[in-house]
Amino acid sequence: MKEDFDIYGDVTIFDTTYRTNKYNLICAPIVGVNSHWKNVMFGCAFIADEKIETFEWVLSTFKKSVGGSEPASIFTDQDLAMSVAIQKVFPHSRHRLCIWHLIKNAVSRFGALKRDTTFKDAFNKCLTGCVTEEEFEHCWTIMITTYKLENNRWFKRLYSLKEKWCTALSKDFFSAGILSSQRSESANNVVGFKANKNTSLTDFFKIFKQTVTRWRNNEFDADFKCSNSKPTSNLPFYGMIKHAAEVYTQTIFRYFETEFEFSIGCVTNLQYQTQGYFFYEVKLENNEASKQKVTFNMADSSIACSCKNFEEVGWLCYHCIQMLQQHSITKIPDRYIIMRWTKYAKAHVWRRRDEESANERIPIKYIPWRQIMVRKGYNLILKCQQHLETKNLIESEFKKLDILADEIRNGLEKEEQDAASQEAESMQQKNTTPTTETEEQIPTVMDPERENTKGRSKRIKGHFEKGKQGNKKKTKAMTAKGDTREFGTITPIQNPKLF
Ligand SMILES: [Zn+2]
Repeated sequence: MKEDFDIYGDVTIFDTTYRTNKYNLICAPIVGVNSHWKNVMFGCAFIADEKIETFEWVLSTFKKSVGGSEPASIFTDQDLAMSVAIQKVFPHSRHRLCIWHLIKNAVSRFGALKRDTTFKDAFNKCLTGCVTEEEFEHCWTIMITTYKLENNRWFKRLYSLKEKWCTALSKDFFSAGILSSQRSESANNVVGFKANKNTSLTDFFKIFKQTVTRWRNNEFDADFKCSNSKPTSNLPFYGMIKHAAEVYTQTIFRYFETEFEFSIGCVTNLQYQTQGYFFYEVKLENNEASKQKVTFNMADSSIACSCKNFEEVGWLCYHCIQMLQQHSITKIPDRYIIMRWTKYAKAHVWRRRDEESANERIPIKYIPWRQIMVRKGYNLILKCQQHLETKNLIESEFKKLDILADEIRNGLEKEEQDAASQEAESMQQKNTTPTTETEEQIPTVMDPERENTKGRSKRIKGHFEKGKQGNKKKTKAMTAKGDTREFGTITPIQNPKLF
């Protein structure tokens, strides 16, 4: 996990919405995004309350465990105490609110406007639909005056926190693109093993390990796919698209490909040029809203766009791609390929593991023998597969071999055990310290007491749940699908703790 944090820790999600029911502790997984845009686990904390000191303790313990580095962006489901703790522990990180939690919380505040689709569109536009600050301010003012929300405390508070959620105001800090609600939602819906009210801490540890193993297997599969196959594309594999397929993972290649496709439909206008610097206006044909200012420096092929896509998500926007192409640049300049999105994000880890396994004498000794035997076995199977008699022969001989191998192995292992216990006995005789003392030193770990955290017992259904479940009595299946998650039951979504 420390290794993963080193590579992917630039964006970290700290989610405190889960409860392990038996003790009612808050279970807070600390999650990131890997090069395939899938979840990666950095750690997990159990906390009894949501006080500033508690968050401070968790974050500083986590910081210490990962060697003191700070994420560029840290996403949380709530503001109040968390923001104070983050400022203290991660002073250089940008604190942001998970847009998924924000939308859930917002819906419960809409009142009568909940059914007004025009209002909801206007609200969503303010959240994620604006590109510039001016556009956001304009849209926000119109929404507030149209729906007479000038004196609404919740909307006032939301506005005061705009830098923590508005996508138009968050472009200077890298966020790996997770500000979109879809990504955030997927991070919050890692449904797998269902924790229930009898889940103990040891049970939980198993769930945690299973989750990490599953995520790592998925990552391994995706890595394998990337290193063994090329992505397909309808575009001819030339220039930057070819280069993107070579360097990026297949998921990121798709995002780059989309930008590339948009770049084809761009119209450009050179505003002026001086000393090798070119200043352009680039937009999609007949689309004023897409217009951006692009600056290109001939000397070092550096490029900057006012949409700040690269700064925010880590790959070039269509405005930049179009201008680089116009200047006959056929490769993505190195500085615009960030390691964490490439197929080689973990290359140094693989290299080190190879070195480590090379140093381990015993496993390497078996590898050539194993490969030879696999080939021999495979050839034999191919030889036998056509006739029933040969098939039966190989199956019965395999069974016999299996039994015989077990007998021999068991005999050898028993001999080793006997030798080891004899050695231990002779050591014991030499040792004057009584062994019972070591046994007594093992501490007994007691279960934690049940915590009385806020908003737990009287659970109010949120808007989305009401929509899904209506007034029907919950069945067992509904409970499993609706409100339990991998890390326990999700807290009330109407819980006003967000801010
Ligand atoms: Zn751009």
